[in-house]
Amino acid sequence: FLHNIAVVGAGMAGLAAARALQQAGRNVQIFDKGRRPGGRMSSRHNAHGLFDLGAQYFTVRDPDFLKLITNFETQGVVARWPGIMTRHVGGQWQSQRPEHPRYSGVPSMAALTDALAESLNIHQQVRITSMTRTDSSWTLEDQNGRLWSGFDHVIVAIPAPQATLLLDGVATSLLPLPDMSSCWSTWVRFGDTLTMPEGIDAWQGVFLETSPVLRWAARNQTRPGQHEGERITLLANDDWSDRHLEADPDRVADDMIEAFRDFYPAPLPAIRARGVHRWRYAQPRQPAQDTAGYLVDMAKGLSLCGDWCIDGRVEAAWQSGHRLAQALFHL
Ligand code: FAD
Repeated sequence: FLHNIAVVGAGMAGLAAARALQQAGRNVQIFDKGRRPGGRMSSRHNAHGLFDLGAQYFTVRDPDFLKLITNFETQGVVARWPGIMTRHVGGQWQSQRPEHPRYSGVPSMAALTDALAESLNIHQQVRITSMTRTDSSWTLEDQNGRLWSGFDHVIVAIPAPQATLLLDGVATSLLPLPDMSSCWSTWVRFGDTLTMPEGIDAWQGVFLETSPVLRWAARNQTRPGQHEGERITLLANDDWSDRHLEADPDRVADDMIEAFRDFYPAPLPAIRARGVHRWRYAQPRQPAQDTAGYLVDMAKGLSLCGDWCIDGRVEAAWQSGHRLAQALFHL
């Protein structure tokens, strides 16, 4: 019987697993190296406003995920972000009619992971550096050399390349894990509202299909629950991000803003402030699709979940964690 469970990583996958296990009466402790839960869904709040620099929106296809999201929608934690999602194909802006509605947290993506984290026991700013199993119990060691022991089972819910380091020499049966691409994310606070392209009433997010640098731009102030202040997030594409992984961040921000200036069909307002964030492990290049949506070594009392087990999406991360927890209940 698995009673004491450690979850490493408080992103969507780790939170989904922990929540289901806690609801099933297990004693769950979560460890996360960040200051807040959310991982790649965390948002940045600074003197210039609120910016989503990781996941931009999410879609819902899974009936179980739909139940959760419908509930959160009623509580005002998430809302549809209908946006005129426009694409730049051959210089044209086109409205999109997405097959599945797009949701955002209210007022930012972190609202969803914050809500999931409520009533869970999370140790923030604790980076797990190694794990050892003696007899039938696990001990985790953190960056300060502190030991956390007595776990029947450990769930590792972190990006695959980081999981590979933790598993090295501990559970090689589960290796190798998929590689992940990076993403540079730049935020810009403009002094004035952007001029809309001709024929477009307003846009909230746009896929930039033809830019050699950027893949996406969003206006954060158009998210549900947000209002004024022209606050843009720019995401660079995988290739460009990988090639500039070790570049000077200031230079990266400038290059990304220049690429947006080249793309945008009207002059940009003056920039009041800007900054940049590098996601070293942003999306799986090739998800581990042959799995059940998670990986388990029952003999060792160790399992893995994360978006990279299924697909680089918020919903897939949730499915991975949730399905793993369901599988563990029945064992
Ligand atoms: P993560 O969110 O990465 O969570 C892992 C957690 O583990 C983190 O909190 C980290 O701090 C912690 N951690 C890592 N190592 C350790 C350690 N050793 N000890 C303790 N803690 C550790 N998805 C969509 O559906 N729609 C989008 O529009 C979208 N856009 C995206 C844009 C960007 C720029 C990025 C980066 C991602 C985007 N995604 C999008 C993908 C989505 O964000 C991810 O699929 C999802 O958030 C992954 O969740 P996770 O729990 O698997 O991993």
